[in-house]
Amino acid sequence: AENGLSAESYRRQHEISVTGDNVPQPFSSFQVTGFPSEILREVQHAGFSAPTPIQAQSWPIALQGRDIVAIAKTGSGKTLGYLIPGFIHLKQRRNNPRLGPTVLVLAPTRELATQIQDEAVKFGRSSKISCTCLYGGAPKGPQLKDLDRGVDVVVATPGRLNDILEMRKISLHQVSYLVLDEADRMLDMGFEPQIRKIVKEVPSRRQTLMYTATWPKEVRRIAADLLVNPAQVNIGNVD
Ligand code: ADP
Ligand code: MG
Repeated sequence: AENGLSAESYRRQHEISVTGDNVPQPFSSFQVTGFPSEILREVQHAGFSAPTPIQAQSWPIALQGRDIVAIAKTGSGKTLGYLIPGFIHLKQRRNNPRLGPTVLVLAPTRELATQIQDEAVKFGRSSKISCTCLYGGAPKGPQLKDLDRGVDVVVATPGRLNDILEMRKISLHQVSYLVLDEADRMLDMGFEPQIRKIVKEVPSRRQTLMYTATWPKEVRRIAADLLVNPAQVNIGNVD
């Protein structure tokens, strides 16, 4: 009961609301996360003193292997909110990256995809996680070369990933952790058909995490199609 109370007060204080079955209590500090020491070292090195509210509430859910819809505005720390549980998922799977990525992150633009890639490289380095970024408006050659060598994590815009899939230069059969970042923007940009094609190549036994700043009916619809019994986390007053 005491834990329940402190979870409630933490949520109230940080404007977190949750819906879903048995949503675990938020991680109010890095010490209680149980993250591997190499990840905690990176976080400390970055100078972060505490998880942001979206991290605090979505980490324990993601670590349970559950699907999540997170609705939070820009700058709230969503990237590490999904990357760190993705790294832990990777360590547990120990898949061979030469057979394809295990973690796939979809993002709307080249700029966002490269920012996510930078964060993944920075925080995944000491865990020996390999990562590449696929986006349009640049030659495919170097991107294909990374895929050939094999990577654990692929961060991609839907358009370029779809092109590379059609060329049969990537296999998604090993993906078991799928992230749709800025889902509302991807839909605004007309990427829904590409997203649906990509997801068809990903096994249905997977964990799916969707991040969005807004929650209109188009986003609700794709969430209903792609996620299974998700926990929903809202931060602040978002519609
Ligand atoms: P969002 O995707 O929600 O817009 P980002 O993931 O890009 O936000 O994070 C915004 C900034 O906050 C980044 O520079 C990131 O490194 C930093 N950040 C992430 N987590 C924390 C934290 N726990 N404490 C302080 N800064 C953080
Ligand atoms: Mg972001």
